[in-house]
Amino acid sequence: MLNKDYIRVCFLYSRMMSIYGDRGNIICIKKRVEWRGREVVIDEYNVGDKKYNFEDVDLFFFGGGQDIHQIEVALDLKTVGKMINRQVVDKRAALLAICGGMQLLAKYYQPTLGDRIEGTGLFDAYTRGGKERFIGNVVVESEIGGEKNNLVGFENHSGRTYANWDNMKPLGKALIGRGNNGEDGTEGMVFQNAVGSYLHGSLLPKNPWLADWLIQKAFIRRYDDYQLEELNDDVEKKANEAAQVVAENVGKVSNISEV
Ligand code: GLN
Repeated sequence: MLNKDYIRVCFLYSRMMSIYGDRGNIICIKKRVEWRGREVVIDEYNVGDKKYNFEDVDLFFFGGGQDIHQIEVALDLKTVGKMINRQVVDKRAALLAICGGMQLLAKYYQPTLGDRIEGTGLFDAYTRGGKERFIGNVVVESEIGGEKNNLVGFENHSGRTYANWDNMKPLGKALIGRGNNGEDGTEGMVFQNAVGSYLHGSLLPKNPWLADWLIQKAFIRRYDDYQLEELNDDVEKKANEAAQVVAENVGKVSNISEV
């Protein structure tokens, strides 16, 4: 039995969907909760796991992956996708989905080669594969958590994602990098307590505002009214600033490969 206040985190498809440091987001969430004297239970859900109880999850994390893995995961989502959607939409769970994970929680992903991969439709968006990959460091102007900050991360995707913004907002505006589709300047999406983004990196350690926004939502889901203390983020902010300098100097988009 846990003695302290806690949240339950579910790392979706941790074996197939976790690239370019995505697992670091889980470590970041764990540390930021523990530094505040609370506890965190981390479950890993993978294809075919039977009887996992999605109804007790406060915060989902879903990383990126290769198309081949997305096909297998999409098949499993036909069984459990509705439960994940319901937990976010009706039960106020927080969620962070990166790149391929975000694509699978939207309506569909049509790769350049091969059949259309169906998503769960949590995000009102769809993705089509493009000829060149978007690869590079990204800086995103974002107002997540109420204040304006520049989020930093790394993108590597051929998918272009187009969203219907009637019920969602972009996570922010791509100042450097391609973002959702390389056309409209948007990066990522926010729907209720769910955030989608193309930013690997890991994303959360260098962007503590976003980490805390998700953690706070998770505690509110479990305990209703809940306020977490501020942490000293001097080191995290320095890392963020350093990553912005790198992005400005060497990280501009390099389309190095054709699909
Ligand atoms: N396969 C997808 C794309 O290239 C997702 C890649 C990823 O998750 N990094 O668009």
